[in-house]
Amino acid sequence: MNKRSWAEPFKIKMVEPLRMTTREERERAILDAGFNTFLLRSRDVYIDLLTDSGTSAMSDRQWAGMMMGDEAYAGSENYYHLEEVVQRYYGYKYLIPTHQGRGAEHLLSTLCIKPGDLVLGNMYFTTTKAHQELAGGRFVDVICDEAHDPNDPSPFKGNVDPSKLERAIDTAPPGRVAYLCLQMNVNMAGGQPVSLDNVRQVSDICRVRGVRVFLDATRAVENAYFIKLREPGQAHRSISEILLELCSLTDGCTNSAKKDCLVNIGGFLAVNDPDLAEQARNLVVVYEGLHTYGGLAGRDMEAMAIGIEESVQLDHVRARVGQVEYLGQKLIDAGIPIVRPIGGHGVFLDAARILPHIAREEFPAQALTAALYVDSGIRSMERGAVSAGRDPDTNENVFPSLELVRLTIPRRVYTQAHMDVTAESVIEVASRAKEVQGMRFVSEPKYLRFFQSRFEPMPARASADASTRRIRAIPSDAVR
Ligand SMILES: *Cc1c(COP(=O)(O)O)cnc(C)c1O
Repeated sequence: MNKRSWAEPFKIKMVEPLRMTTREERERAILDAGFNTFLLRSRDVYIDLLTDSGTSAMSDRQWAGMMMGDEAYAGSENYYHLEEVVQRYYGYKYLIPTHQGRGAEHLLSTLCIKPGDLVLGNMYFTTTKAHQELAGGRFVDVICDEAHDPNDPSPFKGNVDPSKLERAIDTAPPGRVAYLCLQMNVNMAGGQPVSLDNVRQVSDICRVRGVRVFLDATRAVENAYFIKLREPGQAHRSISEILLELCSLTDGCTNSAKKDCLVNIGGFLAVNDPDLAEQARNLVVVYEGLHTYGGLAGRDMEAMAIGIEESVQLDHVRARVGQVEYLGQKLIDAGIPIVRPIGGHGVFLDAARILPHIAREEFPAQALTAALYVDSGIRSMERGAVSAGRDPDTNENVFPSLELVRLTIPRRVYTQAHMDVTAESVIEVASRAKEVQGMRFVSEPKYLRFFQSRFEPMPARASADASTRRIRAIPSDAVR
């Protein structure tokens, strides 16, 4: 049978017009932004694929929930609704809301990491690692080797390598492993899932050795969908059942509700240990707010509770991941090197292969984000050496094996026509790859440098001819 088309499982009730810009306007805008897409103004962006964080469209039911905000300082109804929903779908006993994911990471890192501790994880995540390091910890990567190879087709490239995990724990000084942070749908590996079987195995290894496991549940719902799709024996189970089992194998989670949970702001820490919950409630009042709102308005918690219920519906996840797949497949068909298999929340372009003439020291992924923006107004994000930052011991740049550009798809926001326009722009820029120049830092912040650093193009090579100069990312008189 021919493959039948699918469509978004919603219709559009309200629209937000997009502003179109000229190429000249975009050249000026990216120059003003120091060639960092985080520093662009949103009004200058046509299709915003910077992140899927906090960029979801809420449903009519969520908006109705916003009107039901109980803005009491203490004991808001919406807190109790959220607590009930988190217990039902994630299964943890105690909920501490936070303003977003990193608020929860801050609490967990502060409470569970002593200076000099090792913190294990399946590939780092930027804010997670920053909080671990600020608490005095050292991150140790125990992800499987396949995760570092953009061409490896394994279905669960987010998996922890069990032997790396055992070695890391067994060679650490006794009591110096703070915990394992087990990330779902590993973001920096290209949105690659972890298998249920791997979570079971990893949880056993840690339990026997007395090491706690905390889920980074930010993308656990989408991870559960991949388990249903790809893991033998899981196809008949619902997303909720799989999600509950994933969480049941761990001691707690941090969660950025700005992703799977379909809200524009919010997050939470959820744990099973009553003592840890008590300590977190103590700390949350210092940094976020009272333990029944954690930096959120009552209405935000209500929208989150409703969003969680919508997020585990199969129709929703299938269309969400399906849209990412649609864009990725278009690029694969056009011969563009991307991370495979296609991940859950975005398509990751292999910038090192698209721009082989740019040395890693000249940040090909950063250069590609700027070139894509200038071509079409599409905003993407660097996920390579700039994001990886510097080694805390040597202060040298870290060059991760993956040098990627992420086209992240917000949930329920864009149509497939937007995906077509995006694919065409990537194909156009890749076909003129040689015209893209490498970048160097003009300014570099100490923490999470990718957010605010500024760049300039490397000086043009002597061999650059006039036509090359004409289509450079920026006007030549403006190169500083
Ligand atoms: C976004 C994200 C975080 C941080 O959450 P914020 O809400 O942005 O603070 C942590 N872990 C993962 C995997 C994420 O994708």
